[in-house]
Amino acid sequence: MAIRWRSGFGPTHIIDEEKNPKSLNDICFTSNCFDSSFNFLIDPRKLIAAQINGVRMDETNLIDLIPTNPQIVMIIIDFLTYERQFITEIEVLRKSILTDISETKFSKLQKVLEQPLTVLSDIHQVFLSHLENMVKTPKDGFIELFIDIFTKNSEILQAHNEYMNKLLSIEYLGIAFSVEMSDKYLSLIKNNTIIQMLRLPIPWQLFTSSTSRKILTYLPNNLQTKYGKDLESFASSIEILTETIDSIPKLEEISKMFMKEPFPIVQPGRRLLKRGSAVKQCRSNSSKREIFLFSDMFLYAQQSVGMLIAPAEYSLTRLRVEIPLDTPEMSLAFYAPQKSFVLEFLSPEERDAWNEIVTNSINNAKDSVDSPIEQYREAPIWIRDSSVTHCSKCHRAFTFTRRRHHCRECGRIFCSDCLSNKIIIPNISTKSTVKVCDLCYLKITGGTPQIQSK
Ligand code: ZN
Ligand code: ZN
Repeated sequence: MAIRWRSGFGPTHIIDEEKNPKSLNDICFTSNCFDSSFNFLIDPRKLIAAQINGVRMDETNLIDLIPTNPQIVMIIIDFLTYERQFITEIEVLRKSILTDISETKFSKLQKVLEQPLTVLSDIHQVFLSHLENMVKTPKDGFIELFIDIFTKNSEILQAHNEYMNKLLSIEYLGIAFSVEMSDKYLSLIKNNTIIQMLRLPIPWQLFTSSTSRKILTYLPNNLQTKYGKDLESFASSIEILTETIDSIPKLEEISKMFMKEPFPIVQPGRRLLKRGSAVKQCRSNSSKREIFLFSDMFLYAQQSVGMLIAPAEYSLTRLRVEIPLDTPEMSLAFYAPQKSFVLEFLSPEERDAWNEIVTNSINNAKDSVDSPIEQYREAPIWIRDSSVTHCSKCHRAFTFTRRRHHCRECGRIFCSDCLSNKIIIPNISTKSTVKVCDLCYLKITGGTPQIQSK
């Protein structure tokens, strides 16, 4: 059957149902209705409201906005439809399927996923009700308001991130569950399989980042300038989540780049979150490092004849980053128990992006370990050789024979006479002693410095 859509003085548009229009977008473009004849359509509100999935009766006000911003309104209607569908399916998964398996061998899925799914569902309900309220009474500045609600939503990203972390850690069980049980839940999961249901947030993420970019494309110029950055950064934060879908092949690829792997890089549950390069500040020079952020580790290595060598890895549960006060605006300080260091990025924006994602990933990694994280000491960042010309204690100038030595506890530079204490600092090494200055020696041991002859 075709939908007959008659305009007052113009021709009658006929829409073929076989083309199966799913949204206002399809119908309007099929019928070419956004010309000057739009206003003459017979009761377009009722007709549209009655015929198109995704527009509810109380949202027909949106139609008023179509003549000025047709594409964006359609994008918003599509998004609302998708959002409602998403919430319904998440609830089916949470309330029917996962609850039902609580006594079976798959009960671990329920234990691990129920809480992040509940959070996800609650946050989406709030998000949807904000959007719906706005759509019922669209005011001037409706599009601006929509973009604000849509993009200023860090809780939603956080909830997705947490759910993805949990899901990836037990995805193997989800796959087994899907293979064994998809038939049983056929009526609930419609045309999906259970593993597709478990992965539902992924299509939401893809749909939402593309919605964000589509809105940006159709925004009038003045709004594009105002909201371009918000929409773009919202889209790319979601893409970071989706980029990790095929985590195993990506990890394999990275693992092959190393001359010798620092640790087995391919591991279930691990994801690559960001990759890039930066310049590492060393005591006397600086050199380029390839850097990798995984969901549980930070790693850097040097590039040499197409292979990665000299890797150093840092567990995220014992890492802290901070923008250093005294170094250029493009650097980021990393503090860890054994070694701390400074990386310099190409631009302040790049540094800020790394700062944000590393900080978030550290928080996520800490949240996802079961036991509380013990207190630990951080190694100092060494003062650079070029920044001092005299010993920090005796103030004699450094020369070719009077060399610079770093205190392993505070990172300051001394001559060898002033750096004669050697002690064990367990976070740096439990086996061998390291050199510390007098002040640090006193601070650590509470005793008199022991002078060692050379
Ligand atoms: Zn000295
Ligand atoms: Zn010291």
